[in-house]
Amino acid sequence: MMKVEEAQKRVLEAVVPLPLVRLPLEECLGLFLAEEVVSPVDIPPFDNSAMDGYAVRAADIAGAEASSPVRLEVLEDLPAGKVPVSEVGQGQAVRIMTGAPVPRGADTVVPVEDTEREGKGTSILRAWKRGSNIRRAGEDIRKGSTVLQPGIRLGPAEIGVLAGLGMARVPVRRRPRAVVISTGDELIPPQEELRPGKIRDTNSFTVAAMLREAGAEVRRLGIIPDDADALRNALLEEKEDVDLFVTSGGVSVGDYDLVKQVLDDVGRMDFWKVNMRPGKPQAFGSVRGKPLFGLPGNPVSVMVSFEQFVRPALRRMMGAAALFRPVIEAVAEEPMGRSAGRTEFIRVRLRREGGDFLARPTGPQGSGILSSMVLGHGLAVLGEEVGRVQPGERVAVQLLRAEPEAWVR
Ligand code: AMP
Ligand code: MG
Repeated sequence: MMKVEEAQKRVLEAVVPLPLVRLPLEECLGLFLAEEVVSPVDIPPFDNSAMDGYAVRAADIAGAEASSPVRLEVLEDLPAGKVPVSEVGQGQAVRIMTGAPVPRGADTVVPVEDTEREGKGTSILRAWKRGSNIRRAGEDIRKGSTVLQPGIRLGPAEIGVLAGLGMARVPVRRRPRAVVISTGDELIPPQEELRPGKIRDTNSFTVAAMLREAGAEVRRLGIIPDDADALRNALLEEKEDVDLFVTSGGVSVGDYDLVKQVLDDVGRMDFWKVNMRPGKPQAFGSVRGKPLFGLPGNPVSVMVSFEQFVRPALRRMMGAAALFRPVIEAVAEEPMGRSAGRTEFIRVRLRREGGDFLARPTGPQGSGILSSMVLGHGLAVLGEEVGRVQPGERVAVQLLRAEPEAWVR
């Protein structure tokens, strides 16, 4: 049997990053930056006011108090977007709004709450230190500094920063195009009534969703019967632009021959017994040079093996620097796992107590218990050398969920 790490290594060796493209900023959410970004500008680009108030010279207002205000002449009104025409001299001020450039001569902004307007002048009711309430040019991002590293995933904050730098197009790896197929004569689509011997196809939906969540474009072909010609045709009909294929079912010993026969015709294929539970039978190969992941049929096996093999490979194709889920250490609250000798992935719920994460299994761990993936916050990974884990022992947990709903159920 093959170690999980060995299977991961082979899969990752077989994929390469997709071509670099420069996409409009708004299309980049969830993609990975392909080049380092160095700022061509200072952000903010000029000293500007952090408050609505008056731009003044700190020296003029040094002794200001409510009981002895300092009266200043107001030269002009400066809304955001306007450029000052005046220079602030001794005894003078400019009325300034948040974001407006600080006029020459001024070194401090006094918030409007600390002032009182009087005709053409203003009374300053409080002394402020020199430099107060001014946002300095470059205090957020300095011109010439490295802002973003290649391989990071572009989320809302990164996209905002890129917009601020003036990058209307962004170097990324293009979105992988995936084709998803479920194999099995027993499968029917969700909209059909159940009838004897049939079950609804879940895998093509979970796989398509996992691919999309990871950043791929997906064509979900749905169900292909256990028939060599049907599978062969489905794979061959796909156009040249596919980057990866993901199938489920038909790779365990019983069905093995079907998929094998087809894939020997249209590509090449390795069948692996990976030393893991769930997910032991796996197939991996290529169709017309594009990787094909033959995941097992059981719904949990599909999701667990997607996490271990497909998602990291997809992230490599997308140019990600980090291929794997974050792993935390947690303390087992209940016994889990069976015996040493095989890597086990236990769906666990996590909670926080004191400084620790506590992990307990979601319930039955069968490879068909898909509801365990709904309940699970993560996968406790019990390596080959780990036997049954007892309460109080520490386990590594791959974190699958960050959204708060999952944590309150
Ligand atoms: P197989 O690997 O094809 O022998 O399938 C293993 C188990 O997973 C069987 O019980 C199948 O009925 C089930 N299975 C296979 N494909 C799917 C699917 N797309 N959705 C739900 N269950 C499936
Ligand atoms: Mg099958």
